Amino acid sequence: MCGIVAYIGNQQAAPIIIKGLKRLEYRGYDSTGVSLFNGSELYTIKTKGKVSELELKLEDQNSIDAQVGLGHTRWATHGIPNDKNAHPQASNSSNLVLVHNGIIENYASLKEELIQRGYTFTSDTDTEVLVNLIEDIQKKEKVKLGKAVQIALTQVIGAYAIVVFDRRKPNELIAARLGSPLAIGVGENEFFVASDATPFIEYTKNVIYLEEEHLAIIRSNRDIAIRKIKTDKVIKPYVEELQMSLENIQKGGYEHFMLKEIFEQPQAIRDTLRGRLLSNEGKITLSSLRDHENKFLKAKRILIVACGTSWHAGLVAEYLIEKFTRIPVEVEYASEFRYRDPIIFQDDIIIAISQSGETADTLAAIKIAKERGAFVYGVCNVVGSSISRMTDTGCYTHAGPEIGVASTKAFTTQITVFSLLALHLGMLKGSLSRSEYQQHLAELESLPDKVSEILKQETLIKEVASSFNDTNNCIYLGRGYNFPVALEGALKLKEISYIHAEGYPAAEMKHGPIALIDEQMPVVVIATKKGHYDKVVSNIQEIKSRKGRIIAVVSEGDVRVKELADYCIEVPESLECFTPILTTIPLQLLSYYIAVQRGCNVDQPRNLAKSVTVE
Ligand code: GLU
Repeated sequence: MCGIVAYIGNQQAAPIIIKGLKRLEYRGYDSTGVSLFNGSELYTIKTKGKVSELELKLEDQNSIDAQVGLGHTRWATHGIPNDKNAHPQASNSSNLVLVHNGIIENYASLKEELIQRGYTFTSDTDTEVLVNLIEDIQKKEKVKLGKAVQIALTQVIGAYAIVVFDRRKPNELIAARLGSPLAIGVGENEFFVASDATPFIEYTKNVIYLEEEHLAIIRSNRDIAIRKIKTDKVIKPYVEELQMSLENIQKGGYEHFMLKEIFEQPQAIRDTLRGRLLSNEGKITLSSLRDHENKFLKAKRILIVACGTSWHAGLVAEYLIEKFTRIPVEVEYASEFRYRDPIIFQDDIIIAISQSGETADTLAAIKIAKERGAFVYGVCNVVGSSISRMTDTGCYTHAGPEIGVASTKAFTTQITVFSLLALHLGMLKGSLSRSEYQQHLAELESLPDKVSEILKQETLIKEVASSFNDTNNCIYLGRGYNFPVALEGALKLKEISYIHAEGYPAAEMKHGPIALIDEQMPVVVIATKKGHYDKVVSNIQEIKSRKGRIIAVVSEGDVRVKELADYCIEVPESLECFTPILTTIPLQLLSYYIAVQRGCNVDQPRNLAKSVTVE
């Protein structure tokens, strides 16, 4: 959600910033802008729409000879997406420019005070209030820029990642964060500041992930000074080495990131299993549990908090953990959990799931859980993310960068992590036999190859997708482990094709949704052999009797459903608990091709953001 890219050094800033903003496009945005300082003039160019439009406005980027600048992609929260609300936002004197990701919740009262002190506002944003507040503090307190930003931030309530530039201090950038991520790339006499490390990956491998409530004063040709915003405590910068490569954030010949990521799933699942599923030794090892096994074994309850696709992975996790460990599991929307005064016991374990590790609602849920003394385990993909740092321990999915806004490989690798976790704990608890355990490990290891098999049906799925050309509604049905898959299938379709879709447990259909079925209504049914097959076949009969169009995901060699369905997509047989990893694959491809055929922007669907860093 929203992207920040800033540069200070001795290269041309504009091309670096524009390229960096393009890399952050996947996060979702509606307008964009850049400020560049050439030593005497501060240019700010902004536009509603895409970075490519900003690029056109900039015409020849090199004509602005600037070695310092700030860029932004905005995902509007306060004020409609238009040129004047786009960032950077300038102060009244035009000396300061600021880019901001997040929300200043008390902007209205701060704005009122500033208006009384003679300030005027040209945008509707909360961000313009912050930049003027900093300017006002500079004037009143006669302090340096870094200090003025620090004082201003102690007065704001909300969430932010910001970068500030003062044209009178052209060798300096100020960066600060609370609730939204910022990474600082440390090069030779040059620095990059960005929402994640992808914009500067080809320039430096040295990165500082700015911590919560920290402020950095970044000076070209000098070092970085970091301090805590509230206490002023000086912090020694911790420089890490980036593990990402440029190659793994590019499309690699695929038309869209989403398609590339769907096809990366066999490898992504292998990477999630690597070093954890030790088939030679016939066991699972999870370093995240090493010092905490007892905590899990004694837990009376596990609460899972997540949003969106991760919430669906949480539902699969509930089935897996309860089956193998017999520990009761509840799955909560993180956004609801935090506002309903949840009951949390000291011996509860909270598991937080988020691809980016930056989801604001999930972070807030973790905060509450920690305040109440619970032990928190994180499952996320982005190494060094806020969730990975806020939790007591956790497990990375190691799926590689997920750029497409609609999550695909994050989902299957999250389920892979939960398969490992549930089996490992089940083994420790003695709630599954040695032979069952071994059988499950062997099957888990075979899943990447089975996913590859399913991906070979791309052409068939593309053909099925063309039957959706005239569709505005769709129902997804599944039972047991395949119920969360039905929810996820429906979400994928909604997200990228804008077709209204709902997922239901197949048996629930007769309690209401069946009224929707007629010859216009496509119904996607997951009807694999393991998992209530006969019951699902009966549900398919009910749909057929009402002339619904049936698209079924079935096990290889299926006969009965094939007689009833309009289209069948086969998946290899597996143990029931692992079917979600397989059955979700055709549904991802189906959504992808339906959206492409409808001319939708698959990688950047309207109104959506990749990493939802606002509440
Ligand atoms: N709240 C700010 C605005 O609406 C920043 C939004 C963002 O994170 O892009 O302009």
